[in-house]
Amino acid sequence: MERYAIGVDIGGTNTDIGIVTSTGECLSRSRIPTQQFSIIDDYVDALSNGIKVLVEQYQPCEVSGVGIGAPNAHFYTGTIDNAPNLPFKGKIFLKKMLEERLSMPVVVTNDANAAAYGELVFGGGRGMSDFIMLTLGTGVGSGIVSGGKVVYGHDGFAGELGHVITFPGGRLCTCGRHGCLEEYASARGIIKNLWELAAQGNYSSPLLEMDKSAVDCIMISNAAAQGDSLAKAVVERTGFVLGLALANAVAVTSPEAIFLMGGPARLHGLLPEIRKSFENHLLTSYKGKVEVRFSELDANNAAIVGAAAMVLAEECK
Ligand SMILES: [Zn+2]
Repeated sequence: MERYAIGVDIGGTNTDIGIVTSTGECLSRSRIPTQQFSIIDDYVDALSNGIKVLVEQYQPCEVSGVGIGAPNAHFYTGTIDNAPNLPFKGKIFLKKMLEERLSMPVVVTNDANAAAYGELVFGGGRGMSDFIMLTLGTGVGSGIVSGGKVVYGHDGFAGELGHVITFPGGRLCTCGRHGCLEEYASARGIIKNLWELAAQGNYSSPLLEMDKSAVDCIMISNAAAQGDSLAKAVVERTGFVLGLALANAVAVTSPEAIFLMGGPARLHGLLPEIRKSFENHLLTSYKGKVEVRFSELDANNAAIVGAAAMVLAEECK
């Protein structure tokens, strides 16, 4: 009988649930609106019902467990701790609550770690024992695989490259400190790069004629593709910062590759700029040995498949 796993991607707006095969194919998926729930018990009831419906749809089948990727999720405790973008405040004992409702193991991790499991089991990280997964989106997340395992550290919070300080005294980050990578390479960070460069240089760009609040990364990417000098400068600045931070990260775990995921990573021309800065900043002994490339996971299902991969990788213990 084929072995399946349930993957759950909890986001501030929606929660996506999928049933995933042992080869990483998402067979079917459903969605519940996270935002419509303010009482955690009601939300967990809806989530467990959604999972049961998918499992029943594929009976008879063997479902090994439920993997969940969520913001501020903690692998060791199975909790979500004070997630600012979720409607549930405080510490949520998600693993315990869900296991009480389902007769199968549940494992919880943060979204970037789930992406790293996906890359490890189904993506470009197959056969690799050491790589770094970097996810660019609303924030910057990372999952670090070392010796074939996702690194959690002594208290479960390892792999926060988004909050590595790249500019001491730089922009104020949501974490309360200054100069974190996230403030320069997340979607909002890239837009801040745009306004900072525009204030420093003498650019004429269609982006400067737009309503400031309407400008997004897709517009910057399109402008860069058309040769706009300001947009190209933004791409260069973003690539410089990412390359610098990733070169520093290499010195810690000596990975074989770095995978990039998320919309901002696809900014036109960004990957070559990251590679240039990365190689420039690498210690000589690593030069030419570490590939920086895009994730091989299908972006539409990556979060679900990554969460399910955690179960299939037998982390459910
Ligand atoms: Zn920070």
